[in-house]
Amino acid sequence: MTKKIVVIGSGFGGIAAALRARKKGYEVTLIEKHGDLGGRARVFKKNNFIYDGGPTVITAPYLIYELFELFGKNHKDYINIKPLKIWYRFVFEDNSYFDYSDNEAEMQKQIQKINEIDFIGYKKLLSFTKKIFEKGFTELSDVPFDKPIFMLKQLPALLKLKSYKSLFSLVSSFIKNEKLRRVFSMHPLLVGGNPFTTTSIYGLILYLEKKWGIHYSMGGTGKIIESLEKLMNEVGIKIIKKNEVVKILNEGINIKGVKLKNNQEIKTQHIICNADPPFVYEKLFEKKVSNLFFNLKKSRMDYSMGLFVLYFGTKKKYKNIQHHTIKFGKKYKEHLEDIFENKKLNEDISYYLHRPSATDTSMCPDNHDCFYVLVPVPNNSSFIDWKNEGEKMKNLVVEKMEKDLMPGLKENIVEDFYLTPDYFEKELNTKYGSGFSIQPKFSQSAYFRYHNQSEIYKNLYFVGAGTHPGAGVPGVLSSAKILDKIL
Ligand SMILES: Cc1cc2nc3c(=O)[nH]c(=O)nc-3n(C[C@H](O)[C@H](O)[C@H](O)COP(=O)(O)OP(=O)(O)OC[C@H]3O[C@@H](n4cnc5c(N)ncnc54)[C@H](O)[C@@H]3O)c2cc1C
Repeated sequence: MTKKIVVIGSGFGGIAAALRARKKGYEVTLIEKHGDLGGRARVFKKNNFIYDGGPTVITAPYLIYELFELFGKNHKDYINIKPLKIWYRFVFEDNSYFDYSDNEAEMQKQIQKINEIDFIGYKKLLSFTKKIFEKGFTELSDVPFDKPIFMLKQLPALLKLKSYKSLFSLVSSFIKNEKLRRVFSMHPLLVGGNPFTTTSIYGLILYLEKKWGIHYSMGGTGKIIESLEKLMNEVGIKIIKKNEVVKILNEGINIKGVKLKNNQEIKTQHIICNADPPFVYEKLFEKKVSNLFFNLKKSRMDYSMGLFVLYFGTKKKYKNIQHHTIKFGKKYKEHLEDIFENKKLNEDISYYLHRPSATDTSMCPDNHDCFYVLVPVPNNSSFIDWKNEGEKMKNLVVEKMEKDLMPGLKENIVEDFYLTPDYFEKELNTKYGSGFSIQPKFSQSAYFRYHNQSEIYKNLYFVGAGTHPGAGVPGVLSSAKILDKIL
C-alpha cells in the first residue's frame, strides 16, 4: 500500500521535502496556509513591480537543480540562475565602500584600499573557512543529528576548528581593520544570528560563497518557487492552498492526521512540518505529550532577530546602486546588542538594500527601479508596538537611504509597503515573529537544534529554518536531504 504523507507549509524546505518524499513513492499532500507558495520566499506583485518577499541571494544553486534531477528533468527548462559579478557592495559610515566578489585580483585591490596588510590575513581566513566548510557543510550539513553520541563524536573536530569562538572573534584573529572585520563576519546576519555571539562554524558561508558564487534567479527567486510548483504538479503532489492546519491529531506519540481550518480532516501517520517547530509543538497538538528534557530544551531557546522590510518602486533609475548593498551604521556592535540583547530600537541602523532591476529589467516597468530594504530589528519578545513604530521606521530608513545612497529618493518613490515582525508572527506562524526561527548559536546547532525527526512523536519530521542545519535557502534545502535519508 502507498504510504501517505502530509507536508505542512510550502517554504523552500517544505517543497523540497514534498518532492523528495514523492520520489520515495509516498502519496504526498502539501498544505499551505496562504493562497501562494514559498513562505518567506513568496512574491508580492503590485502595479507591474515584482518584489521577492525574502531570499534574494542564491548560493549553492546545485541544491535547487537536484530537485529537478530527482525526476529526470533539466533545470534549464524551468529556471535561469545566473552568477553575479559583484556580490555585495558594503558601504561604511564615511561613505567609503568595499566591493566583494570572487575576482581575486579585484579583492586584493579592494582590501588593500582599506588596509594594505589585511590581504594576507584574508587569504589565511579563507583557507581556515575552507576547513570549516569541509567539516560543517560537506560532511555534516545533510546528515541527521538526532543522536547525542553522533554529536559527541564531532566535538573534537569542532573544537579544533575553534567553534567555541564567535565568528567576529575568529575573523578578528586574521583581519586587523575594523571595517574589514565587519565585512567578513557579517554572514550570521543572513541566517538570523549576531556575528558577536554566533559560533564561527558559520564562517563556512564565506567559503560556500567562494566555491559556488552568488547567483540571481532571472524573474526573481519567485520564479524558482513557481517552477517547483509546476514540478510538484507534474509528479503528482497534491497541493492544498489557503487552508491552514489548525490541529495535528494524535494518540500519545502516534500521529493520526491533521485537521484544517475548514474542518476537513486528513488521515495520515506521517507528517513533515515546514512550519516553525516551536509553533508546531506549542500550538498544533490537541493532546500534547510532555517530556521534561524536551520542555527544558524548548524553554531555553533564543530566537533570531526580527526584520523590517520596506518594498518600494521608484520612477527614477538609480544606476549607481549595485544589485546587493549592505550599509553599516556607526556603532555596529552596540547596535547588534540593542537588537539581540536589549531588544530595543535605535536610530543608528544598518541595512541591506536589494535592487533586482540592476540585473533584471523584467522586475519593474521601463525607466523605473524596484527595491527592498531590510533592517534587522528586535523580534517580538521586545513587545515593540509595530502599529506605531512601523511608519517611524519607514521614514527613518527612507531618510537614511536618501542621505547615504539615493539622492531625491522621497520624491521618486511611486509606491511602497512594508512588513514588520508582526507579519512573521501572525502570517507565517513564527514564534516572536523572528525572521529566521531560532538563532544559530553553538548551543542551538546540530544536536541542540530541533531534530529533523521529532524528539517526541513517532513519524513526525521537521524541515526548514528551525531544524538542523538551519536557516537560509541552502540550509533548508539540506534539511530536506536529511529527511530523505531518514525516510
Ligand atoms: C527578508 C528575508 C530575506 C532573506 N534573504 C535570504 C537570502 O538572500 N538568501 C538565503 O539563502 N536566505 C535568505 N533568507 C532566509 C530564507 O528565506 C529562509 O531561511 C527560508 O526561505 C525559510 O524556508 P523554510 O523552509 O524554513 O520555510 P518558510 O519560508 O518559513 O515557510 C514556512 C511556510 O509554512 C506555512 N505554514 C506555517 N504554519 C502553517 C500551518 N499551520 N498550516 C499551513 N501552512 C503553514 C507558512 O505560511 C509558510 O509558507 C531570507 C529571509 C527573509 C525573511
